[in-house]
Amino acid sequence: MKTTLKTNITVKDVCDGFVYNELEGKGLFGLSGRLTIQPEYQRNYIYADGKRDVAVIASILAGYPLGLIYFNKVAQNKFEVLDGQQRITSIGRFVTNKFAIHSNDTPQYFDSLAADLQAKILAAQLLIYECEGEESEIKKWFETINIAGVPLNAQELRNAIFSGPFVTLGKAEFSNSKNANIQKWSAYVSGSALRQDFLECALDWVSKGEIGEYMSLHRNDTNIQPLKTYFNTVISWVSTVFTDVESEMRGLEWGRLYETYHNKPYDPKVVSSQVRNLYGDSYIKNCKGVFEYILGGSVDKKLLEVRVFDDATKKSTYTQQTVKSQAKGESNCPLCVLGHDANQNKIWNVADMDADHVTAWSKGGATATSNCQMLCKTHNRAKGNR
Ligand SMILES: [Zn+2]
Repeated sequence: MKTTLKTNITVKDVCDGFVYNELEGKGLFGLSGRLTIQPEYQRNYIYADGKRDVAVIASILAGYPLGLIYFNKVAQNKFEVLDGQQRITSIGRFVTNKFAIHSNDTPQYFDSLAADLQAKILAAQLLIYECEGEESEIKKWFETINIAGVPLNAQELRNAIFSGPFVTLGKAEFSNSKNANIQKWSAYVSGSALRQDFLECALDWVSKGEIGEYMSLHRNDTNIQPLKTYFNTVISWVSTVFTDVESEMRGLEWGRLYETYHNKPYDPKVVSSQVRNLYGDSYIKNCKGVFEYILGGSVDKKLLEVRVFDDATKKSTYTQQTVKSQAKGESNCPLCVLGHDANQNKIWNVADMDADHVTAWSKGGATATSNCQMLCKTHNRAKGNR
């Protein structure tokens, strides 16, 4: 990436042709039309609070440096503000009399300042880095610096890197809080539409996790129908298979589950009663796993994190088993006793054994002392895999 430090650009230069959009709260253009202050991907102007905007002007009047500002060179003599749009918009708004600073409790607009102070502001030089480079370089750089103190999240970064018609349309659909669908989607998608979490989710699903690649490929697309169609297909599949909405459904990997299971038939009524049974089972620690467990045919218990025996139960069961076994002169692993090798009368240490459900959890066995037995690790593993 090529960076050029410019120290000769003044407030007057940047504010030449400054346009501020009151309606959207955005600083739009400057530098005689050559600078886009708030590109589509930037967050809105948030300094208009009579404190941060005033502080920017006070700094200039005091002769303090405003810190580095970064421009991205997008074409010959065309720039976008990468970092610094809050400061530049504050300056532009002040110079165009949009807000006042206070001196001796009197509000002072730019027009009412003494001529020497006006001149001081206009002549102030800004410290600007012009950056020019490949997408990958700018991405890397973007990820390294903290933009305006609030780091952009991963999707905000991608929107910046791949800005163009596709991102604009994607944001209009998936990060528009006025879109009534957001409410419905939030049953399955977690996060904030404004922070691009819904757009990120839709892109993640359609691209099978290759979001950057997908955005790069579609950057200049002028319609996002494939993205919308895929997202809606997944949502509609989930809401058809699972007719009840549970809060644990939010944020699951529905794209992956759709790809894996959408060709299998399910009876929504049966599924619904399975969900209710599992939700009512106090031994299940991970209700988020219930949905994938059912989709996979109710086999993979690991997804449910069925409650395991605690150490006190294990220890007391071990002691009881071992005392009895020693009296009989046989192994304290009941399955070793049944074998025909040297382990038949081996007394295992507690560390070499694991707790096992006598009656399996899946057959209704409780995680209670009465249903606990200790097995040597080999036998416990063998039983667990059956
Ligand atoms: Zn054994």
